[in-house]
Amino acid sequence: MHIHIFWDCQSPAGLQLPVSRLIETILGVKTTVTENHVRIMGYVDARRQVDAQALLDSIQAYKRRHAIAEPVLLVVHQDLFRNGNSFVFGLARESVGAGVVSTARLGNEYYGRAGSDEDYMDRIAKEGAHEIGHLIGLPHCEDRECVMFRPDTLDELDRKKKMLCPLCRKQLDTLPAR
Ligand SMILES: [Zn+2]
Ligand SMILES: [Zn+2]
Repeated sequence: MHIHIFWDCQSPAGLQLPVSRLIETILGVKTTVTENHVRIMGYVDARRQVDAQALLDSIQAYKRRHAIAEPVLLVVHQDLFRNGNSFVFGLARESVGAGVVSTARLGNEYYGRAGSDEDYMDRIAKEGAHEIGHLIGLPHCEDRECVMFRPDTLDELDRKKKMLCPLCRKQLDTLPAR
């Protein structure tokens, strides 16, 4: 299983390689990181946020145009929302193999705390692995320490471990290779 990670120029520079390695370890997939060429669509002035669904549309169109069959995860720094949620850390569209993660709320600075590259990397990796997990066939998990648990807050994200629970691991291992 090969995953493309597109790292937008506004996302934190220098973290793409460690993040991609962490994701590979968590899921047991191969990744390649490249700079992002997908257009950032769906910016809403009044909210100063990007509509995650519009961004997924944009990834979907890019994949079609460039005949990319493998899953794509886009990492952006713009804050994301979706209809019905004031914000989302990330979103995946399984049917087309497209996912997006926002780094906007993953840094300590956003919460008025001292910055830490390590915290930043851990959270981007967990969120990235979560969305990619969906793209390769995993649903949400009830285990609060599992990467596939759906966090609503930063604390819930931090409580997760950088790994799949045994049940999700097993499920992933029995999925047909795509
Ligand atoms: Zn999810
Ligand atoms: Zn799990």
